[in-house]
Formats: sequence, structure tokens, C-alpha cells
Amino acid sequence: MNDLEFLSIAVEQARVGRSEGGIPIGAALVADGVVLGAGRNRRVQEGSAIHHGETNALEIAGRQPAEVYGRSTMYTTLSPCHMCTGAMLLYGIKRVVIGENRTFMGAEDLLRSHGVEVVVIDSEECVQMMTDFIAAEPSLWNEDIGEPDA
Ligand SMILES: [Zn+2]
Repeated sequence: MNDLEFLSIAVEQARVGRSEGGIPIGAALVADGVVLGAGRNRRVQEGSAIHHGETNALEIAGRQPAEVYGRSTMYTTLSPCHMCTGAMLLYGIKRVVIGENRTFMGAEDLLRSHGVEVVVIDSEECVQMMTDFIAAEPSLWNEDIGEPDA
């Protein structure tokens, strides 16, 4: 499978999340062509402060040896926030493929500054998903990115 196909797994997770009433951000952690964990933002579903798409994918992948993280790619529908970036740096993930960064620019520079390869697909599908969500649920979105409600 190629990057677009793995990203589509993250997109599918995002869509499931939205159908659950949650925030449509999904992620998948992949090593050696195998999906170790696919997750989605579960702030609403679980009342969670920390289960963003990427951290949820890491949680679902469970404990992995350092060598596995070192050859893993994180696929995520949206540019990763500082929390998820920190988790990925902690575990030594070396490559991050991002669906889009037009609706939210995360800590991509921080990833790059640590030698992580960052690939931005600029997927129209991902942009549309977030644009629709932000228009429908502005308060929920502000909460997710730690901004005061406008
Ligand atoms: Zn995050």
C-alpha cells in the first residue's frame, strides 16, 4: 500500500469519529507495511483530554519496541498539534504523512527540526472534512485546539 492508501485508513477513522458525534480527525501508525494501530480523536466520545487521532493510534498500537517506532510512519488527516508531535518525538517516529494543514497548522516545524520527514498530501477530502466540521461545530473545534470559545 502507498501513502495515499494508508492515509485513507486515517480518513475512514475520521469519518467514523464524526458519525459518533466527535471531531473528524483520524490517524494510523504503520510499520513495515502493517497498520499497528488506527485511531481517531475521541474527546467527545470518551470525554478524553488526550485522545487525539495520533495519540489514540499510538494507544491502540500498544507497547512497541523502539526499533519498530523508529521505522514507523504516522498517517494523520490533520497537521499534528504539539501534544501529538511530542508523543511522536518521544517514541522516535521518523516519518509523518499529513492529510492537510490548511485548516490547522500544527507543529510541523518542530518535527522537522528533530529530523522527522514530514510529507503534506494537501488532500481536498481532508480539507473539506475539517471545513465542514469547523463550520458546524466552532465551539467544539476551539476546545480541541485549546482556544477560548469566540
Ligand atoms: Zn493532537
